[in-house]
Amino acid sequence: MKQEQIVIIGSGPAGLTAALYMARAQLEPLVISGSQLGGQISITSEVENYPGFPQGTTGPELVELMRAQAETFGARLVIDEVTEVDFSHGPPFAVKSHSETYQAKAVIVTVGASPLRLGVPGEEEFIGRGVSFCATCDGFFFREKDVVVVGGGDSAIEEGIFLTRFANQVQVVHRRDQLRAGEALKRRAMTNEKIAFVWDSVVEEIVGNGKVEAIRVRNLKTGDQQQMPTDGVFIFIGHYPNSSLFEGQLKMDEKGYLTVDDRLMTSVPGVFAAGEIMDPVYRQIATSVGQGCSAAMMAERWLREHS
Ligand code: NAP
Repeated sequence: MKQEQIVIIGSGPAGLTAALYMARAQLEPLVISGSQLGGQISITSEVENYPGFPQGTTGPELVELMRAQAETFGARLVIDEVTEVDFSHGPPFAVKSHSETYQAKAVIVTVGASPLRLGVPGEEEFIGRGVSFCATCDGFFFREKDVVVVGGGDSAIEEGIFLTRFANQVQVVHRRDQLRAGEALKRRAMTNEKIAFVWDSVVEEIVGNGKVEAIRVRNLKTGDQQQMPTDGVFIFIGHYPNSSLFEGQLKMDEKGYLTVDDRLMTSVPGVFAAGEIMDPVYRQIATSVGQGCSAAMMAERWLREHS
């Protein structure tokens, strides 16, 4: 069993920022990466609204810079996944991963959120064979093909615009006749000649034979159904918090977001949370970074007061 001052669970912008602050406070934080180093931004194509990058940057580049900066000051990163925690006794708190059990005097939970699924026939079956939740990862495979994007929020529109680099046509299927996405993205999508919109419509089935060939779509206003041929279906309909690991241990709201106080402390003193695991509202890189910083400052103070 390894003894640690502070374990940070998750390596997205919140976790890596918390690691940077903890490292600069000489606390040698241990970051357990989770299944995806960098979290959701590692699969985000373009980032245009994170300050300091006037030409924009990419998600993977930002992750790499944040990781390098935290490590420069002494943060340690292990590529591993936490499988179990025990916050019922302690501190120290037990944090178990695939390869190690840690005892930590304080913990910061930054495990983020995962993409929601449509829950329609064909979705699971064709993941990796035409169904994708990541334009950065899979866009390249759809050069000169036709793809469908499902959703009307910032993610759907941003990733849809990115996909026009490869695809011949991007059809955005949205369940209403207004986009949820912000004005700047909306304008860019509306004026992009490769993007078309299928309004008031939901995907009811993803159809294919070994790979995606079409979607079955229903218009919610008219009830009409149609089969639309396509080579790929990119689904961006929101996220759910990755909080199942903490059920019964930390208080959460009805949607599973961790409940924190104004110091970002969870229902267990000494366990803090930052980023999308506790934030159903803002969910920006910039806000996750801010929350990671705040959680680290509060955790550092808590450690000082309780050592
Ligand atoms: P979101 O804002 O929750 O949007 C989800 C979209 O999917 C909505 O348009 C929603 O329709 C639709 N939807 C939800 N469930 C559906 C279902 N079962 N079937 C069909 N459509 C469904 O999620 P997001 O776009 O992933 O964004 C998440 C957060 O990250 C937001 O706060 C967003 O601002 C932020 N973000 C920001 C940027 C940026 O600033 N560049 C980029 C990406 C994400 P309705 O509109 O009808 O609800």
